[in-house]
Amino acid sequence: MTQELIIDSTPVSPFEMNAYVCGDAATKDGVLIDAGADPDKLLHMIERSGLTIHAILQTHAHLDHAGAIKPLKDGLLDRPVYVHKEEMPIYNNVARSAQMYGLGGFPQPPAPDHFVEDGQILTFGSLSFRVLFLPGHTPGGVAYITGNHIFVGDTLFMGSVGRTDLPLGDTPTLVQSLLKLMNEEDHMRVHPGHGPETSIGRERQTNPFVQAALRGQTWM
Ligand SMILES: [Zn+2]
Ligand SMILES: [Zn+2]
Repeated sequence: MTQELIIDSTPVSPFEMNAYVCGDAATKDGVLIDAGADPDKLLHMIERSGLTIHAILQTHAHLDHAGAIKPLKDGLLDRPVYVHKEEMPIYNNVARSAQMYGLGGFPQPPAPDHFVEDGQILTFGSLSFRVLFLPGHTPGGVAYITGNHIFVGDTLFMGSVGRTDLPLGDTPTLVQSLLKLMNEEDHMRVHPGHGPETSIGRERQTNPFVQAALRGQTWM
């Protein structure tokens, strides 16, 4: 029997980053994916989902994805934070990079609680995720996969891919990560860090960056 999931999202920060909740509709076991900003909006989304949040899963740690970790951990929603170890140079610079861009509201998060690894299975009650390591946009980007849903962060968007011109971004590495993602089946639904939902099949057929990667080409 396939598990029925509750999935909801809300755009946060001036970057319209999609924060997600995902959980088991039967047991209400759930997680928050990318605590980006606007903690009140995140808490409202969690409340309307009816889910019990066990963890905060970070696809990566750009400020628009990680700016609400501190207020949540400070008492609003004190749950363990999961991130890939290679992401720490980005994670440790959330507040500093916000200052560089002259942005307020992105306080430095406390140290994460757990590092995730490629292929690892994370289990929270009746809910499980497979971790897929997808560096390139950042050095420690990951996707979290459950059922036929992929929470992909900023690696893949509808018709586009994550930028690699920010510090520690790398285009050839991103190309390898796109090829790895294309090992997933076409019916898999893709929930990106920005913009609308898509699917592996749709991007395989229409995304010029994915098609270039599949032809063995790169860009920039
Ligand atoms: Zn990003
Ligand atoms: Zn982003």
